[in-house]
Amino acid sequence: MSIERCQNPDCNQRIEVIEFGHTRPARPEPRKLVCPYCGHTIYRKTRGAFIVTKLEGSSLCYANDNALCGD
Ligand SMILES: [Zn+2]
Repeated sequence: MSIERCQNPDCNQRIEVIEFGHTRPARPEPRKLVCPYCGHTIYRKTRGAFIVTKLEGSSLCYANDNALCGD
């Protein structure tokens, strides 16, 4: 799990990226990461898949990095 920002400069929202299934013995392939705010899509290689969720309203940021919770 990692906290990132949308790469669309007009959006720049905080998103949580969860990678799963990546321990299976498969060839890494590019998978879509779609921003839940603006729909901006990037591709990243993984053996599994990604879930992207809005960070807003999540308590996870408090457990990780308070600097990300500055709004
Ligand atoms: Zn976005």
